[in-house]
Amino acid sequence: MAQTNASSPSDFIRDIINEDLRTSKHQGRVATRFPPEPNGYPHVGHAKSVCLNFGIAAQFGGACNLRMDDTDPSGESMEYVEAIIRDVKWLGFDWEDRLYYASDYYEQLYQYALQLIRMGKAFICDLDAEEMREYRGSFTEPGRESPYRNRSVEENLDLFKRMRAGEFEEGSHVLRAKIDMASPNITMRDPIMYRIKRETHYRTGDQWCIYPMYDFAHCLSDSVEKITHSICTLEFENNRPLYDWFLEAVGVEFRPQQIEFARLNLSYTVLSKRKLIELVEKGIVNGWDDPRMPTLSGMRRRGYTPGAIRDFCDRIGVAKNDSLIDVALLENCVRENLNETALRVMAVLRPLRVVIDNYPEGQVEMFDCPYHPKNPEMGSRKVPFSRVLYIEQEDFLENPPKKFYRLTPGREVRLRYGYFIKCVNVVRHPGTGELVELHCTYDPETRSGFAPDGRKVDATLHWVSAVHGIPAEVRLYDRLFNVADPLAMSSDFAEYLNPESFEKLTSCRVEPSLADAAPGSVFQFERVGYFCVDSIDSSMNSMIFNRTATLRDTWAKIVEKANK
Ligand code: ATP
Ligand code: MG
Repeated sequence: MAQTNASSPSDFIRDIINEDLRTSKHQGRVATRFPPEPNGYPHVGHAKSVCLNFGIAAQFGGACNLRMDDTDPSGESMEYVEAIIRDVKWLGFDWEDRLYYASDYYEQLYQYALQLIRMGKAFICDLDAEEMREYRGSFTEPGRESPYRNRSVEENLDLFKRMRAGEFEEGSHVLRAKIDMASPNITMRDPIMYRIKRETHYRTGDQWCIYPMYDFAHCLSDSVEKITHSICTLEFENNRPLYDWFLEAVGVEFRPQQIEFARLNLSYTVLSKRKLIELVEKGIVNGWDDPRMPTLSGMRRRGYTPGAIRDFCDRIGVAKNDSLIDVALLENCVRENLNETALRVMAVLRPLRVVIDNYPEGQVEMFDCPYHPKNPEMGSRKVPFSRVLYIEQEDFLENPPKKFYRLTPGREVRLRYGYFIKCVNVVRHPGTGELVELHCTYDPETRSGFAPDGRKVDATLHWVSAVHGIPAEVRLYDRLFNVADPLAMSSDFAEYLNPESFEKLTSCRVEPSLADAAPGSVFQFERVGYFCVDSIDSSMNSMIFNRTATLRDTWAKIVEKANK
């Protein structure tokens, strides 16, 4: 099982657990759970919760359950369950045989509800949604009691059973807890426990037409699983008294404790399943695993590694106040991780043909090139060198400004792992004036990368042999939005999409060693960035790479400029 960083500083949740362990609150037992609702694909916010719950369990010798919190048939599906299972596994966590479904507790929950009715702690209410809202009051006004609040236990039992039996219309009756309509906490004003929903559930089918509300189902599911620390996000802080009320009222054997922490908000993206579904359904992105999506499947497809995401979750830590985390931090974790692990190779994204006039026609040399400059254990591969090469268009300028150190007419540069070359002629299309190719000469004495006479060059360029290079498509991905907090803006978040978040380059050339690169594997294209073989669309005959990350944070500059 993946360990979160053992040296990571403690946080207020770990402090609570340490204290509980000191006082032997649960006989030294620690049990957590990750409770996703299968109504969308997991995103990096969920990863924070996964790392926290599984990380705590691992750290304290406890166990973490994976529980599908599937109490609302609308929008839930097996496809999402499978995505959750795949992604949590991929992140590196293991729930062993503890995969649970709240829908497996339906009968038990129903029995708890009957019990509360018998105790006079729950009643069937016939108010419609509109009336219910009116009766609820507001922050400044207490609510009013429902006219149905004092129904007899018998009548309530009868109505609830008939609700279950499907005798009533959707919206005609609900089961409510009888708490306190004057409570300053609106959550406590006789909250709904069950409502009628005539929808087929992806697991229980049409067995049920009443479904429990989150507040009722969650605490009791936690209790059934004997969860010691039920960690959730801050928006449930107001619901904690209700969480405790249900446990108390039912008189459960095991009392879990709810602890809230700040959810992850990430800049230049949105982390709300509802918004992500919108992006998918409107075709703004190409599905849940579009490499621009903050979903784990999107990040995986983009080449992000589980290690980088875990590292990110460790570094952002756990706090009690909401904040917006700079996505650059995530990108840096990815870069740092890949800097260690990615093999270096050469690829040219926008090729410019270079003919080396004095290199023998038909000759090919195989250069032995290390896969990692700092780690010889990663081995090396052979890279063919020949008379005609491609270099990057942006590495040549005919009329360079000052401080342009790369290739220009008359100037000498080094080819990575190879010779010095000097540009002697520039060929343009006679009609369009478009740059066609460069003619260069090479110095056979510079094979080592250095000139015996000690002369220096200012730049080293990557290259690919023209006849040997493999044609490839490269998909450049960038941030999906061009404002830091799209949901905080005045207009709809879709107004702030970054039009340059996707660019497709179709005439790229990559070195031949990449021919058998496995789908999903990530490389550093030297001087260009990190790229992975697309796991869906790439094939032996047409290779496709996704840009995982640029080598440096290019946005820092853009933001700096904008702030000036
Ligand atoms: P969304 O707002 O994306 O719909 P949700 O909270 O409804 O998220 P759930 O499937 O209920 O999604 O979430 C499962 C668990 O992950 C919950 O415990 C929830 O608190 C946690 N979680 C969800 N989003 C975040 C986030 N952005 N940061 C940290 N934890 C999160
Ligand atoms: Mg939720």
